Formats: sequence, C-alpha cells, structure tokens
Amino acid sequence: MSLQNKVALITGAASGIGRECALKLASQGATVVIADLNQAAADKVAEEIKQSGGKAMGVVMDVTDEAAVNAGTDLAAQTFGGIDILVANAGIQIVHPIEDFPFADWKKIIAIHLDGSFLTTKAAIKHMYAGGKGGSIIYMGSVHSHEASRLKAAYVAAKHGILGLARVVAKEGGPKGVRANVVCPGFVRTPLVDKQIPEQAAALKITEAEVIKNVMLKDTVDGEFTTTEDVANVVAFLAGFESSALTGQSVVVSHGWSMH
Ligand code: NAD
Repeated sequence: MSLQNKVALITGAASGIGRECALKLASQGATVVIADLNQAAADKVAEEIKQSGGKAMGVVMDVTDEAAVNAGTDLAAQTFGGIDILVANAGIQIVHPIEDFPFADWKKIIAIHLDGSFLTTKAAIKHMYAGGKGGSIIYMGSVHSHEASRLKAAYVAAKHGILGLARVVAKEGGPKGVRANVVCPGFVRTPLVDKQIPEQAAALKITEAEVIKNVMLKDTVDGEFTTTEDVANVVAFLAGFESSALTGQSVVVSHGWSMH
C-alpha cells in the first residue's frame, strides 16, 4: 500500500493531527500539500518534509472561503499533476452550554468543519474524476461523530454531519473510483485540546486534572490519550487501501472510548 506518486492535500496541516498526517503520508512516498490559514506555518511543515527528502508545498487556504479553497486546490493539482488524496482535517473547538452558546460561535464551527469539508471535497473530487484514477477522501471526524458531550453542541452536530457527507461522497464517488471514509479520534493532546482543559474546568467547576481524568479519558479502556501518530497511521492506511471494499466507513481510534 505504497503512497509513491500520490498527491495528498491536507487541510489544517500546520499543526497537531494534520501535521502528523502530512509527515506520515510523506514518509510513505506521497507528495504533500500543506493547506492552512497561515502561509509561513504551512511552509514550515513543508520545509520539514523537504529536509527529510520528501516532496511538499505549503498553500494558504481558509477552508470556509470557496474562492481560496478552489485556488489552493487548483494550484496544488497544477503543480503536482493532480490530486489523489484529500484529508479534510481543519478544525476548531468552542465550548459553551447550549443556553449561552453564541450564534456566531455555532456558525464558525459549522463553517470550518462542514462547509470546509464540503468545499474541499467539491474542489478536489473534480481533479480525482478528471485524472480518471479516482482517489481517497478522508474526513477528520471524532468520537463526537458518534457520541455526545456536554458543552459541545456545535462540534458534535458538525462531526455527526461529516458522517453523512462522507457516506454521500462514497456513493457518488464509488463508480468513479473515489473512496470516502471518516477517522474518528478520541482525545489527542494538541493545541485544540490543551485549550479546552482550562475552559472545561471553569465551565464544569472542577480542576484541570479532573477534566482529563473524569471527563476526557473517563470512558477509555486504559485512561490513555490517543496520539497524533495513532491517528496518522489510520489515515495512511485508509489513503493507501487499494480497493473500494473500504468506503463510506468511520474508523474510531480512541482507546475504546467509543466502540461504534
Ligand atoms: P490543531 O488546533 O492542532 O490544528 C488545527 C489546524 O487547523 C490549525 O493548524 C489551524 O490553523 C487549522 N485551521 C483552523 N481553521 C482553519 C480554516 N478555516 N482553514 C484552514 N485551516 C484552519 O487541532 P487538532 O487537534 O490537530 O485538530 C485537527 C482535527 O482533528 C480537527 O478537525 C479536530 O476536530 C479533529 N479532532 C481532534 C481531536 C483532538 O483530541 N485533538 C479529537 C478528535 C478530532
């Protein structure tokens, strides 16, 4: 399942899980396009890949901006001769109780996770169809694609929505060789999660240690965080899977927190 000669576009790849996916896919031979809000941060990861002998490019892309998504995707396809893999990973988290959830924050989360997944799919799948080779689209879902947690109305709704999008893309793309799957991580220590620990402690009126032990990792089989490497390994597996036997699925990587 080599990724040699494959071109992968990864959104939100300047940090955390997306960055690890970029390093992993590059280490397996893929040419990687690092898409993120900030050109310098994207270029930094691309440089890291080039230093270790891989091929990569940074592109600036706000996944909620249709023109920016189309421009960045087309640039990537023109530069490297097509797009074989899309990892729609860009994401944020904002927590509030539902009665206080600012509508603007709701819209921001829905825009980045759902509009972003839709817009990048629409832009990339054209190149997968045009090349006649098909491709693999991987959405970054979450255990919250299957489970709910307090304070996360917008995030849980968005991550559940991604399952629906992936299933439609699997059905439409199937006849043209495009597979679509969702990776659903449990808690991973990235900037996104580190920010939530004090926020949840304040909202739930408990200590930060209690947030980790009794909220985040409470239902895992071993009290462990999932790692960026764990998630990147599953993304690489899905990216390289060689037939349409594996499409329209979600794979949960969460130390048993969710067993869907
Ligand atoms: P992170 O904050 O480390 O990285 C997110 C990246 O997305 C950042 O580089 C950020 O600049 C980028 N980004 C944000 N808004 C963007 C936009 N509009 N356009 C382009 N890029 C944008 O977070 P992470 O933990 O690595 O999260 C990555 C994905 O994994 C998210 O979709 C998140 O929901 C999902 N996830 C994370 C966890 C976890 O525990 N960390 C668990 C399950 C799912």
